[in-house]
Amino acid sequence: MENKFETDVAGQLKHVQSEIAVAVRESSRMAGQVKLVAVSKTFPPEAIRLALNAGQRVFGENRVQEAAGKWSQLRTEYDNIELHLIGPLQTNKSAVAVELFDCIETLDRPKLAKVIAAELTKQQKSIELFVQVNTGAEPQKAGVLVDDLPSFLELCRGDLKLNVTGLMCIPPIGEVAQKHFSLLSDLAQQHNLSNLSMGMSADYEVAIKSGATHVRLGSAIFGRRQITPSGPD
Ligand SMILES: *Cc1c(COP(=O)(O)O)cnc(C)c1O
Repeated sequence: MENKFETDVAGQLKHVQSEIAVAVRESSRMAGQVKLVAVSKTFPPEAIRLALNAGQRVFGENRVQEAAGKWSQLRTEYDNIELHLIGPLQTNKSAVAVELFDCIETLDRPKLAKVIAAELTKQQKSIELFVQVNTGAEPQKAGVLVDDLPSFLELCRGDLKLNVTGLMCIPPIGEVAQKHFSLLSDLAQQHNLSNLSMGMSADYEVAIKSGATHVRLGSAIFGRRQITPSGPD
């Protein structure tokens, strides 16, 4: 099938992979410690196929509905896909989200944790979960406040037995991202969590140097997004 998507996705992918390798080496970390999550939100299946054909298997989407539409088909065409939800999740979409995603990075409130736990039991599934932390305490942003993290983790891991393995953050626009990355890294260490999802196209090298295990790159791979996604899914 001819592919009309114009961005050189395979080339950009190769480029960011080598930049990631350099950052990993420069921070004296071991190769293979950083997972590239290719953020395909807003991009059509033909763009995603370019990445899949180049060998990329880990992808991030921020809307459940959009992801379901694209990935139910793509999963039939390619093996070993690992799909991450990186956008806010409404409880009424938890069933679909649990069915579709291998990792939900945006666990951020007790009600959602309870609904996800019930849904995992119902679907007899186990998925990875990261807790999103609102490191800048921004009122409009999703995520658990730093002060609420210990009790929230206790609920998730203790009471609900959720497989929480990491933390995720999106630093405030206009602030030095590194400060937020260090904070998230400290919190993960305190709570014995091994995964750190932080760093986007503009700041992933800094994030890797601060210990990121997952970087979420969209525009660096697929080019500029046409539509700006708005509102929760
Ligand atoms: C869109 C998005 C990204 C990717 O952003 P780029 O700047 O295009 O790399 C990463 N993380 C989250 C949570 C996003 O919504």
